[in-house]
Amino acid sequence: MKEYDIVIGLEVHCQLKTNTKIWCNADANYDAKDPNTCISPVSTGMPGALPRLNEEVLNYAIKAALALNCDINRVSYFDRKNYFYPDSPKNYQITQYFKPYAENGYLEFIRNDKEVRVEIERIQIEEDTAKSIHTKHESILNFNRASIPLIEIITKPCITNPQDAYVYLNTLKERLKYTGVSDVSMELGSLRCDANVSIKEKGSDKLGTRTETKNLNSFKAVVRAIEYEANRQMELIEKGERVVQETRLWDDEKGITRPMRNKEEAMDYRYFPEPDLPRVLILDDRIEKLKSEMPEFADEKQSRFMNIYGLSEVDAGNLVTSIELANYFENVVKLTNEPKLSSNWMLTEVLRVLKEEYIDINEFKVSSENLAKLIKLVKEGTISSKIAKDIFEIMCEDNKDPNTIVKEKGLIQISDTSEIEKIVKQVIEENPESVNDYLNGKDRAIKALMGSAMKISRGKANPQLVQELLIKNMSKE
Ligand code: ADP
Ligand code: MG
Repeated sequence: MKEYDIVIGLEVHCQLKTNTKIWCNADANYDAKDPNTCISPVSTGMPGALPRLNEEVLNYAIKAALALNCDINRVSYFDRKNYFYPDSPKNYQITQYFKPYAENGYLEFIRNDKEVRVEIERIQIEEDTAKSIHTKHESILNFNRASIPLIEIITKPCITNPQDAYVYLNTLKERLKYTGVSDVSMELGSLRCDANVSIKEKGSDKLGTRTETKNLNSFKAVVRAIEYEANRQMELIEKGERVVQETRLWDDEKGITRPMRNKEEAMDYRYFPEPDLPRVLILDDRIEKLKSEMPEFADEKQSRFMNIYGLSEVDAGNLVTSIELANYFENVVKLTNEPKLSSNWMLTEVLRVLKEEYIDINEFKVSSENLAKLIKLVKEGTISSKIAKDIFEIMCEDNKDPNTIVKEKGLIQISDTSEIEKIVKQVIEENPESVNDYLNGKDRAIKALMGSAMKISRGKANPQLVQELLIKNMSKE
């Protein structure tokens, strides 16, 4: 078999979560509403009803474009994409074809120690369609989703393997989420991805014929579909057959793609400028204002955590996987003034519980205030870190104040020298062998002695004092 290169281009549709729809003031929070209750003459495509661009859609779209490093076109306009859509009675979709509002973006990330750059060709603003549900005897149309604002983010055919596609999608999702312009949920349909795949002879710069696969319901499905398509196309070429340019559907259960329809060429859509909407002018003032509202992105946060809190790249990376987690951590640091200790608690205890319970930080019981109090108790020596972990488990149930738990259970650390000395003397008496070992230069023997002392004190003895007093008393022997 010859060697081939895989070529991938991704089209991502992302719903913008404005309060009202793109061309009218119908309610855009349609999810839990009864069918056909979030509608208007414009969103149902009544003849003569005129669209008017929702300014907030433009603001959200610009924020998304800035997050994806795009150039913003100062003048753009809308076009009609003509098509027979049962779920869009106008029989055209308003989109941006000739001049989109944003172009020439990119996302960069590191995978397997290599820097990867995915070029974003363009982003266009467009409207969503109604939802059609086909049952055995009828087809039902729900217009709640019609005219929901979308942006379509289109990459160049520059992705060379499914793993890069996966990281690109995750990076894209996280960036969009950070800007707050979308829920970016594949499950809820606010993020959708179509994968264009072709193969070519290794090293050749002539692109092969592509297929476009739809119905991808998770990032994992995207990876599997790309792998499947690349293999299918290679087998075709090896057999001396040709790849047909077409739209295919992914069957997640069977793990295959199937032909859906012949791929239309752009000319089939008879695009022409939308006469019912004026051109879109985006002035510098608007861009500057939106720029100033942009959040700090995960990679920027990560560098800052490394610089000001002295965290490692990996630790900082694990704390910025979501904006909420990063905020929680920073709140704990603000209250404790202990970045390193706080990050240790976050990474070992908090993240462990999130993982074990399949929850995210928003669902986590312990408030950042109470975690900070717990860390302070350890820091001030009121409780040992061993006991702090037990208290943490109790807090995870009902976010009880750690100070209350300590009082109720009498867990305050013993730091009274005479009391600890009593315990230490008992340990020395009961463990002559370990004492001998230690005195003969086996430093490790002190671990066993400390263990016994902690056990006698039920974990409450201040370990530093125990060690000090053990050494002091043994050298008297
Ligand atoms: P369409 O109207 O067909 O969806 P778009 O311009 O919206 O066209 O998207 C085309 C997508 O296909 C882009 O992401 C582009 O990178 C990708 N693409 C184009 N040619 C190829 C190819 N030969 N192999 C793989 N992907 C391709
Ligand atoms: Mg497209």
